[in-house]
Amino acid sequence: MNVYDSNRMANMLDQMGLTATNRQKDADVVIFNTCHIREKAAEKVFSDLGRAYQLKLERAEEGKDTIIGVTGCVVQAEDKQILKRAPYVDFALGPLRYFRLKEVVQEIFNKREMQLLDTEFSAISKFDLLPENKAEGGCSFLAIQEGCNNFCTYCVVPYTRGIEMSRPVEDILKEARRLADTGSVELNLLGQNVNSYHGEDINGKERNLAYLLNKVAEIDGIKRIRYTTSYPADVDDDLIACHKNLKKLMPYLHLPIQSGSDDVLKRMNRRHTKGDYLRVIEKLKTANPDIGMSSDFIVGFPGETDDDFKQTLDVVNEVKYIQAFSFKYSKRPGTPAAVMENQIEEKVKKERLQILQDLLFDYQTKFNLSSIGKVMPVLFEGKGRHARQLTGRTPYMQNLYAEADNSLLNKIVNVRITGASTNSLSGEVI
Ligand code: SAH
Ligand code: SF4
Repeated sequence: MNVYDSNRMANMLDQMGLTATNRQKDADVVIFNTCHIREKAAEKVFSDLGRAYQLKLERAEEGKDTIIGVTGCVVQAEDKQILKRAPYVDFALGPLRYFRLKEVVQEIFNKREMQLLDTEFSAISKFDLLPENKAEGGCSFLAIQEGCNNFCTYCVVPYTRGIEMSRPVEDILKEARRLADTGSVELNLLGQNVNSYHGEDINGKERNLAYLLNKVAEIDGIKRIRYTTSYPADVDDDLIACHKNLKKLMPYLHLPIQSGSDDVLKRMNRRHTKGDYLRVIEKLKTANPDIGMSSDFIVGFPGETDDDFKQTLDVVNEVKYIQAFSFKYSKRPGTPAAVMENQIEEKVKKERLQILQDLLFDYQTKFNLSSIGKVMPVLFEGKGRHARQLTGRTPYMQNLYAEADNSLLNKIVNVRITGASTNSLSGEVI
């Protein structure tokens, strides 16, 4: 979601005549789009800001002004502290307020002394206020839903991104067509709980994600569709049917379980058990036997016992994820879990994470190795490290490197897989 927001911000700055630079020293405007989901991400912002301030001082000696801005969820959660800890920041806009970027940057360019903080939750959606965007490349993110009403006890999202809201169907289709017209062949529909989508169609009728996926699939230029992230309790039968009927829908689904223990899930305030989750996966596999699964895991949630943790490993052994993301539980201020009893020692969290990741990487490596010899349609998205090398993704989100001409960039091309490791594949263009 932050990548999507950053792209929209870059697009707005581009419209003001500002161009992106790889050298921070050259930047007249520096914006940090921040994440508050775990402590590590949130703290990194302050060291990055400190470095940006040093550059600002160096540039000032050369007579150049530098505007420093912060956007994203850290602003929402730590609003006044940001200006206190980093008083040189010129503006701070919450994740729902960055539609003001153009106006704010322009105003600061005009009269330099202002300092602005805006973290309002307004009734008008930011999507109605943002200027039109265009494709970033062959694959584009498209936010269709934002915010969350689930209030998992460890999570800051409902507080930083606000309550759940779905964009209207027609607005999404308009953006999807524009992204297709400007070069995207793959769309990844985004939401904190994307499958709780319930936007209105042109007649004011509420529609679900399955309806939207079918509509997006009707767009000729779009060849591949993904959606992320899904909440297990909200996977309905219409959505499962899409995995059977919609050829453009990729056979890969990120469906986080967080923990394999029903006790832990309950204390996390998740609206599903391990059994519910496994039943959803069974249905998905019946709809499409080739589907590959991915998940998020949290280890060391308050009160997690060795047996709870073992149940998480059991789920991994049962589902055999082809990819996954796993994290040590991070105490977030203001969330119920932060004040729960039986917080787990850092040492235990670290050990559990290592054990879990070793197991996950095993399955991921096995899956990648099983791809050798197969021919897969790959969307080339970027240039590789070597000359005449491109990087892309398979339908299963595997990273792939191949020798290929630049003319194949942003195109879907058949590739024979010749090598595999834990994190990537190599192949030959056919
Ligand atoms: N809505 C999605 C996830 C959004 S947050 C869902 O419910 O599945 C992305 C991931 O960050 C979560 O799946 C979770 O694994 C992780 N996460 C969120 N809060 C965390 C915390 N306090 N500590 C560690 N990981 C956390
Ligand atoms: Fe956070 Fe996801 Fe739970 Fe919402 S459903 S509170 S985004 S973990």
